[in-house]
Amino acid sequence: MSKVIISDTQNNEISEIIKNIFKVFGVENKVKNKKVLVKPNILGPFPPERGVTTDPRVISAIVQELKKCKSKEIIVGDNSGSIHFDPFKIAKITGILDASDGCHSNIARKVLKVKVESKFIDELFISRIVKEADYVINVPKFKTHSLTTITGAIKNMFGIIPGGKKAKLHTFSRSIKGFAELLVDIYQIRIPDLNIMDAIIGMEGVGPTNGETRVINKIISSDNGISLDSVMTAMMGLKPDIIELLQVAKERNLGETDISNITIDGELKVISGFKTPNNSILQRIRKTMVPHIFNLASVKPIVNHDKCKICKKCIEVCPVSAMNLTNKFPEVDRKKCISCFCCDEHCPYGAIILPSWSQDLYNRLKGK
Ligand code: SF4
Ligand code: SF4
Repeated sequence: MSKVIISDTQNNEISEIIKNIFKVFGVENKVKNKKVLVKPNILGPFPPERGVTTDPRVISAIVQELKKCKSKEIIVGDNSGSIHFDPFKIAKITGILDASDGCHSNIARKVLKVKVESKFIDELFISRIVKEADYVINVPKFKTHSLTTITGAIKNMFGIIPGGKKAKLHTFSRSIKGFAELLVDIYQIRIPDLNIMDAIIGMEGVGPTNGETRVINKIISSDNGISLDSVMTAMMGLKPDIIELLQVAKERNLGETDISNITIDGELKVISGFKTPNNSILQRIRKTMVPHIFNLASVKPIVNHDKCKICKKCIEVCPVSAMNLTNKFPEVDRKKCISCFCCDEHCPYGAIILPSWSQDLYNRLKGK
């Protein structure tokens, strides 16, 4: 039976929680004299209070515990969403550079081509350290995701792919089901040995970048990422079996998604009134659609001119060149847009609006 620990950060020191997680999962013997990769979520240049990236206090506690365990080499690193972001600048802004205590590295510098068991792609470039590390600690964030509904342990491993190549992958698998399959394909390139989820300040609503922060005060851990994501989903008030990512992982026997079959150490409490992405009903409908119907039925982003600073990140990151600068501000070309929401994910100013399906329909009728 897989095991998930839900630890309370309100009444316990983060360092003590990490120490206990290491003890329960027998980490010390596995990392002594070994090369360890700590893989946080460093999506972009967001300060910790935005709730977008992994809390640096969790990274700091993990690094210090690994040092106590006498790991031979500790590397803290992630590939942010875009090649246009400077990795060290991002690590500094997110607080992860200082928290890493000399162990942070730009893991995009050395890459490796790997074969992938996937119906969408045959091979892929990933950060070389992912394959070189003896032990991988995945440190995702408790957040929603406008496209995949949740972003957790499985989705965090998407970050083993350097920068801009990630956005391009959306063009290979345009349905929710297809993208979930691709994400699980990538997760399987290197299944993490341990997952420690930062759920201190989570994100609800239209995550993973521009949702609202939600104080949860938890750290959730497991040696199985699928069980961990299932517990997170249940805490959000959703059933794991409606999440495509978890369905795909379950079909491949990668982990348990049935909460009653998971040993939970701690209290699994549904977070009252937790807001999930506003298009989750549409996602359930469209998950079986063929790509062109799916595209017609999907909502399209809108740029909020009051917030937009014309930084052009959304234009750079769009995998199908659907964002263009027209009349000063970026505007989406509805026919080209594949609703991957990478533009929303990478807008530093929260200027992308993802309308509800009814609002999007209204916009269409108005010719917007
Ligand atoms: S919408 Fe966001 S990412 Fe795009 S130009 Fe405006 S501020 Fe930059
Ligand atoms: S405009 Fe935004 S949602 Fe549409 S394809 Fe481009 S990045 Fe994806």
